[in-house]
Amino acid sequence: MAIVVQKYGGTSVGDTDRMKRVADRVARTHRDGNQTVVVVSAMGKTTDDLVAMAQRISDAPPQRELDILLTSGERISMSLLAMALAEHGVPAKSFTGSQAGIITDAVHGKARILEITPGRVQEALDEGNVVIVAGFQGVSQDTKDITSLGRGGSDTTAVALAAALGADVCEIYTDVDGVFTADPRIVATARKLSYVSYEEALEMTAHGAGVLQTRSVEFGRNHGVRIHVRSSFSYTPGTWVGPREESTVEDAIISGVAHDTSEAKVTVMKVSDQPGIAAKLFSTLADAKINIDMIVQNVSADGRTDISFTLPRGDTNQARAILEPYAEAIGAEGVLVDENVAKVSLVGAGMKTHPGVAARMFSALSAAGVNIEMISTSTIRVSVVIAKDQVEPAVLAVHEAFGLSEDLVVAEEGA
Ligand code: ASP
Ligand code: MG
Repeated sequence: MAIVVQKYGGTSVGDTDRMKRVADRVARTHRDGNQTVVVVSAMGKTTDDLVAMAQRISDAPPQRELDILLTSGERISMSLLAMALAEHGVPAKSFTGSQAGIITDAVHGKARILEITPGRVQEALDEGNVVIVAGFQGVSQDTKDITSLGRGGSDTTAVALAAALGADVCEIYTDVDGVFTADPRIVATARKLSYVSYEEALEMTAHGAGVLQTRSVEFGRNHGVRIHVRSSFSYTPGTWVGPREESTVEDAIISGVAHDTSEAKVTVMKVSDQPGIAAKLFSTLADAKINIDMIVQNVSADGRTDISFTLPRGDTNQARAILEPYAEAIGAEGVLVDENVAKVSLVGAGMKTHPGVAARMFSALSAAGVNIEMISTSTIRVSVVIAKDQVEPAVLAVHEAFGLSEDLVVAEEGA
């Protein structure tokens, strides 16, 4: 018997009618003879509403309590779906993350899964049940408190469970047809990709493509879980995420353009240019679990230099509180925060072997009148930080420059 893990996002379970439609699909998968595990997100905007409610009570709610509050959204979904399946005559049992054996570290708000002990899940499957698991949550090994896995964390619950159960596939059901060459809300001609490698999916999701949580792709890659991202509103095949070797689209140099408007840029001005300063600065931020993305250090003048980096906008206040006293202590000039930035990234495994990709991207941006503030690259990605109000023309220009709307992407060597 095949084991199938299906994850349904917030829109797919947005109201009770949609929940019933999800139950139809799950019932069908079960009746086709699969051992079926379903991971659910909170209904619609429930998580946002819960965050807003907490903020009306406190500017800085205790993290432990916030996690208990936020994870309740997924519990509403799991129990309602179990009821909807019972209506179909399908035996179903729902479990919280903790009951499903999702063991995490103790970092509230962005806990990492350390291990999964799916004994109860496996037992319930073996008894013939559909198993429903609340996404986005686990229990800390040390404190035994309920933890949340960060926004979008249900994807990671699903892929991690698929890995632990040795599932044949992890289907991620969402409100779009798959992974696109760019956000279709910006680029109307964006094309659905039939296949992307784990590496490309990692770069795309880490740089703004919201279709999957980045950690879920990491889990998939590390454990070889095949992920199928598809729409819960149709039966059209979506996008497969898997090992590079399996891709049949050999010719694609570029997979897509991602953009991210959720970051801010911080500059520590006129830091003295000597060993240890950057190490101290970034370790302090790391200790506070603040994820830094791009880093640029300028050429120094008179023994002083500016260090700029980007980070999630939600972490800027915390970063400022850490950096301001530090900047003062080391005699730096001060800390500047710019929240009006966006990042545009071009991703494609083929760029490794094709020169001129960055040049073509920068030319397209300049022709669109977009100024580049920061640049960073990996072997399969080029990212730029630009002003936030230029994100749409920038994405359109880059998508166009690489002919991503067309069927086949052919490299122009040395362009
Ligand atoms: N409900 C959580 C969120 O909105 C987790 C998820 O949907 O994946 O982030
Ligand atoms: Mg999501």
